[in-house]
Amino acid sequence: MQNGGMMTNDNLFAALRDAFPADLDTLAIETAGDIPLRYSWRDLDRATARLANLFANLDLPAGSRVAAHVDKSVEALMLYLAVQRAGLVYLPLNPAYQAGEMTHFLRDAEPAVVVCSGANFGWVSKLAFTHGCGHVFTLDTDRTGSLLERASFHADEHTVVQRAASDLAVILYTSGTTGRSKGAMLTHGNMLSNARTLKTFWGWRPDDVLVHVLPIFHIHGLLVACHGALLNGSPMVWFDRFEPARVLARLPGATVFMGVPTMYVRLLAEPGLTPEACRTMRLFVSGSAPLLPETFRAWQQRTGHTILERYGMSETVMLTSNPYDAAQGERRGGTVGRPLPGVDLRIASPDTDSGNGGIEVRGPNVFAGYWRLAEKTKEEFTADGWFRTGDVGHIDTDGYVHIVGRAKDLVITGGFNVYPAEVEATLDDLPGVQESAVIGVPHPDFGEAVVAVVVPRPGATLDGPTLIAAVKSHLANFKVPKHVVVTADLPRNAMGKVQKKALRELHQGLFTP
Ligand code: AMP
Repeated sequence: MQNGGMMTNDNLFAALRDAFPADLDTLAIETAGDIPLRYSWRDLDRATARLANLFANLDLPAGSRVAAHVDKSVEALMLYLAVQRAGLVYLPLNPAYQAGEMTHFLRDAEPAVVVCSGANFGWVSKLAFTHGCGHVFTLDTDRTGSLLERASFHADEHTVVQRAASDLAVILYTSGTTGRSKGAMLTHGNMLSNARTLKTFWGWRPDDVLVHVLPIFHIHGLLVACHGALLNGSPMVWFDRFEPARVLARLPGATVFMGVPTMYVRLLAEPGLTPEACRTMRLFVSGSAPLLPETFRAWQQRTGHTILERYGMSETVMLTSNPYDAAQGERRGGTVGRPLPGVDLRIASPDTDSGNGGIEVRGPNVFAGYWRLAEKTKEEFTADGWFRTGDVGHIDTDGYVHIVGRAKDLVITGGFNVYPAEVEATLDDLPGVQESAVIGVPHPDFGEAVVAVVVPRPGATLDGPTLIAAVKSHLANFKVPKHVVVTADLPRNAMGKVQKKALRELHQGLFTP
């Protein structure tokens, strides 16, 4: 694209860099540890330049992947930004991944560079070199390691590498609840279009301060939270891990918080959560997993703030959001709001009664396909170019989207479709129930039987038959659980998503040998 004789650069980093404040010596990031570290915009600029120069010096082929298997730190964010700046492809990995999991990612993505913690260097480097990777660096949360050491020999000025909007920028591996994890390929254009939409839609202001508590190996913490603050030139208060009491202590002075539902539940358990603690806040965002209506209500009562729930996924970045601006409507608990500007969303083959069907989407935010899985990619798109999200839901008369579950979590019992979310909502409203997860397990007569796994509130005792009787008075018989398991906790992943696959495996023998 020509612009007054100059090529415009569609590299995401170029847009983020343009948003840095004019005074580069102002605060960009302050860490929330015992000894706070303060990073200016100039620090971000220089450190990412050094790292980008280090990558340039490695003479990597175009499109090379840089994998990060590191704990959260400001330097890990700088690594991400530097990979963009250098025009390479970033591959974030959960640092909890062990050798078996890492083998899949290394074999599949064939990164040219791997960055890991010093403690894991032994086994990670061995695996990486075995899979053809030429460079393994270390990066630790105390700002040590070979990556920064090597980068320190490079210049702190660097021209952002030219990239087109359609060029690959990030590969996000899906959480892989069924089969092997697939790499979702996101382009510079996917991420930037979404970040720009959210900047406007969520009303980012010049004086915003984001409290950053999410992991940065995942879309929510990296692409929604970091891009949000950076594209607005807003400072972040940076937590390497989520600690509810410490987070509350840092809300005064801040304006925006983004979390997963479990974080809201844990913050609600803190006596320090008061309107006073939230006095400077303007926006609480929740996503990555469904927010219980009860959490939504409790937050309103305790803080006077209404959580804004949004919905998205690795393959599409953000898709829907509850309104930010009251003029566009209220924020409704139990819904994920309306499609964002520029995002088309439709329901495929809706149920005649409930309107529920497969959610399909289209827009500049939708990914470029699964890494090296052309056939799989084709299957997930309709003939007319819409992406099948795999989520099931409906759109109500006011245009709000309701998600009732993943298509693969749908229970088919005696030929009837049961949407787990409906049964879960009924259970969660019963006295003594903290939360629940509904799954289908093999059954000799019904094919699958509805089973509920229920967590009692502290101090409550629950028994299966009583819960089953109570659900019977609310729902059609085929939806009523055949069995209820009472348990202390639901298995969750790092983003707070309930692991239904694990529950199905655990309870698969309930009705069959
Ligand atoms: P991931 O790619 O790991 O971000 O997972 C995306 C999936 O998380 C979506 O396909 C949904 O199933 C789920 N998800 C994300 N946000 C929400 C939400 N607000 N409510 C319910 N499910 C959500």
